[in-house]
Amino acid sequence: SLCCFQVIRCKAAVAWAVGKPLSVEEVEVAPPKAGEVRIKMVATGICRTDENLRQGFFANIDFPVIPGHEGAGIVESTGEGVTSVKPGDKVILFCVPQCGKCIFCLNPESNFCLKAHLYESQCVLPDKTTRFSCKGKQIHHFLWVSTFAEYTVVPEYAVAKTDAAAPLDKVCLLACGFPTGYGAAINSAKVKPGSTCAVFGLGGVGLSVVMGCKAAGASRIIAIDINKDKFAKAKELGATDCINPQDFQKPIHEVLIGMTGYGADYTFEAAGKQDTLAAAMTSCKVSTGTCIMVGDPDAGSMLTIDPMLLLSGRAWKGNMLGGWKMRDSVPKLVSSYLEKKFNLDVLITHTLPFTKVNEGLELLRAGKR
Ligand code: NAD
Ligand code: ZN
Ligand code: ZN
Repeated sequence: SLCCFQVIRCKAAVAWAVGKPLSVEEVEVAPPKAGEVRIKMVATGICRTDENLRQGFFANIDFPVIPGHEGAGIVESTGEGVTSVKPGDKVILFCVPQCGKCIFCLNPESNFCLKAHLYESQCVLPDKTTRFSCKGKQIHHFLWVSTFAEYTVVPEYAVAKTDAAAPLDKVCLLACGFPTGYGAAINSAKVKPGSTCAVFGLGGVGLSVVMGCKAAGASRIIAIDINKDKFAKAKELGATDCINPQDFQKPIHEVLIGMTGYGADYTFEAAGKQDTLAAAMTSCKVSTGTCIMVGDPDAGSMLTIDPMLLLSGRAWKGNMLGGWKMRDSVPKLVSSYLEKKFNLDVLITHTLPFTKVNEGLELLRAGKR
């Protein structure tokens, strides 16, 4: 149809340079090319990863860039060859694509894809050009999705159609924060009933880990944060103990070993810090414990750990988006949400108009969301 050839002028939040506040600008969004989808954004979450981008932690993402990677919207138009979605469909956009063809997509055990940014940068679309421009300059995409815009263009394999009944302002959280944390417990750790879990960091991701541990039947869930304001929600979601490392004289791993005997069966790092990663590793149970790394430490950071921690049998795993193959899993997660199998609403602390995106990032920095 004709609409497919039109450039759309709309608002977007542009990060012009590292460390600068985002600037809400009028941008041009070019029509989708073959295999691409243009989406009218309806809702987006804010995740720590957006703030990390703004601070320049992503080595392979060029500025200026439109951040945002946790969004839901409605398909406006599709490029040639797109078959899985059509204009008017409600969709969720995600940053670990599922091309369906690479060796990782073909492996049922993996949710990685060779199109993901750890392999090649997702700051331009697969044909190496961008669909965004502003004031005559090309603006880059963020992990392809760039949800801090009224319209965005993504490859078909970075979106999944959702149930038409899904409230987009809630299910946008199924694009990153919730599946990452919940899947860390369910898919990566495969938490067993009756086990003891410890979760470091109680942002949206850590709280979702708590939900996953609870759903898997953990009998003890120890939630750890330096911000005690996070404890009420953690308890509501299933944490049995909430502790603040600053309340103790000794290192937090010693506190946890003291509380559990030989360490927790499963530990999760969702704070994105090197010291909590080391503490999570050290506080999981000797011989049988599993430590899952969820948080993103600063780019280029290195970690030193005692190799005996691993030699003695512990397992140490990472996780991208909770291990879900996103195109396959998002529709199922939406159905589970609609069947009230988990509570996303509790993760929503504030709802702001899009133009207040800097206030949203400020709430994140202040630990209020
Ligand atoms: P957030 O900033 O909302 O939450 C982090 C929490 O950690 C905060 O409550 C903070 O008070 C707490 N914290 C900080 N230092 C701590 C310490 N020393 N001990 C205990 N708690 C501490 O972040 P979020 O949006 O929940 O994301 C969490 C992490 O997960 C980030 O690093 C983010 O980049 C990463 N992430 C990874 C993936 C993935 O695919 N693996 C996906 C999404 C987010
Ligand atoms: Zn995220
Ligand atoms: Zn792939």
